[in-house]
Amino acid sequence: MNPHDSLANLAAASDETEFYTPMPAGYKPGKTKYVGVFGTVMSGLGKGIFASSLAKMLKDKGLTVAPIKLEGYLNLDSGTLNPFRHGEVFVLDDGMECDMDLGTYERMLDQNMSRLNFSTSGQIFSAILEKERRGSYLGRDVQMIPHVTGEVKSKLRHLAVASDADVVFIEIGGTVGDVENAYYIEALRQLAFEEGAGSTCFVALTYVLNPPALGEQKSKAAQLGIKQLLQSGIQPHIIACRAHQPVSKKVCEKIALYSSVPFNRVFSMHDRESIYVIPEMIREAGLDRAVVDILGIADRVHPEAEERARVIWSDYLDRLRAATQTVTIGIAGKYTSVRDSYASVIKALEHSGTRCGVKVDIDWIEVSDMPLEDVAERLAHLDGLIVPGGFGSRGVEGKISCIQYARTRGLPYLGLCYGFQLAVIEFARNVCGLDGAGSTEFHPECKHPVIDILPEQKQIEGLGASMRLGGHDVALKAGSMASRLFNGAPEIRLRFRHRYEVDPRYIEQLEAGGLVFSGKAPDFPIMQVLELPPEAHPYFVATQAHPELTSRPLRPDPFFLGLVKAAVARHQPRTAADAHVAI
Ligand code: GLN
Repeated sequence: MNPHDSLANLAAASDETEFYTPMPAGYKPGKTKYVGVFGTVMSGLGKGIFASSLAKMLKDKGLTVAPIKLEGYLNLDSGTLNPFRHGEVFVLDDGMECDMDLGTYERMLDQNMSRLNFSTSGQIFSAILEKERRGSYLGRDVQMIPHVTGEVKSKLRHLAVASDADVVFIEIGGTVGDVENAYYIEALRQLAFEEGAGSTCFVALTYVLNPPALGEQKSKAAQLGIKQLLQSGIQPHIIACRAHQPVSKKVCEKIALYSSVPFNRVFSMHDRESIYVIPEMIREAGLDRAVVDILGIADRVHPEAEERARVIWSDYLDRLRAATQTVTIGIAGKYTSVRDSYASVIKALEHSGTRCGVKVDIDWIEVSDMPLEDVAERLAHLDGLIVPGGFGSRGVEGKISCIQYARTRGLPYLGLCYGFQLAVIEFARNVCGLDGAGSTEFHPECKHPVIDILPEQKQIEGLGASMRLGGHDVALKAGSMASRLFNGAPEIRLRFRHRYEVDPRYIEQLEAGGLVFSGKAPDFPIMQVLELPPEAHPYFVATQAHPELTSRPLRPDPFFLGLVKAAVARHQPRTAADAHVAI
């Protein structure tokens, strides 16, 4: 019997049947295959990195891929999460605020994600409660199985229809054994059963311990983690072992034997110089071909497309490895002890460094506890400075002093969102003579609120999804540095996440002082990019947007590229003329 015949019978919801599997319109059984990625032993193993690398390998073969991250938490999105605890909030073009893994998918696949690629338990449960109120469950008690799991499967199949993907990659957040994600795992078990053999491939990430006191790798925690997955009814096809050093043959053999996974599909995912090396490691281990075999999609592969993509990617890696010179960029922020809160900024610098053939060393500058007098000494060795996005008042005056130093000493500067607003404040105070210039965000009663709340934000109460979010067009001023950075494009698209903006009443005064607003919202007086003219500074650029979110390995963001080029020029000034960057 064709395994898909039974799918049609599952679609009905009634009190006569235990099956509840709503099928989205247009679902073609057998068209889309599924790869499920689970984490065992501990969180933070890099499931997103592995899943996106594997997805890239399949995309390179000419297949269409669509990832989805399933989060266990009850928040509706990641917008209200503290970056200290959860890493940066990644904003999609459609305005969805989500987990930083979505950034990894966008970068690795060079593909924009949408809200269909992200789900939380909060979204699942609110959809169910809404249906319950509408009476959609036909008198049934609403249960974790089949209704909640049915909702999850429906979401996955909906993505399959909307993306027309050959393969949907499902990353389950958290660790096997968590209460929060248990129903996702059960939904995937059911999905594998319903879709039939050869439709799903399961990957378990695990961690191989190497206690210094023993001096050897130990596999027991990994074995127990996978045992827990097996208890949930999921037999992995592939196991990726995270470790600091390459995982020994002996340990891989033990894990293979214990979990019934063939030895050649137990993969050592040890630490490497860059996550962009992982796709190559996957190819060398033959895992991409294993997935194609498991899913029976060899006939959909385009070998020429694959070869083209392979050459482009190995060129990128060659450049990454060849970089010998190092430039130092300071990042002045308040979450600098948690690198994940600036994940996209770090990656954007890596992309631009690789393009310029240099390694970018990041110097984290914790401004929240830095006395102002120390700024000059602290920043003296830098080749460039970034003030990234941020909220609230802590560290603000320290950041403004850092910006003043960069502006007055010709230190290449890139301001991102808050770093844009603070650059405006610094300029207003120290160049335009507007003593007491500030932002109503951290000083509501300030004398000159050059940064004030956006008019559309004034009515909004509460913090969830309440900002100006997502992709918006930006019109660039012809002949400006910003326009040159973008090869003369009159309009570009950038991503935003902010509540405040430059108060239009101050624009004339700021411009008269010499500040150039080179990017604006096409139809509103919302200032989105500022710069100093080349005769005043080699590279002083800031944007109200978050260009770090749209930088890709093969297409580095132009604002970051400009900063790194300027940093290289400052690092080795050859002639006075060269010290100004040719962009
Ligand atoms: N706090 C500022 C605002 O809300 C900047 C936000 C940010 O840097 N993302 O406008």
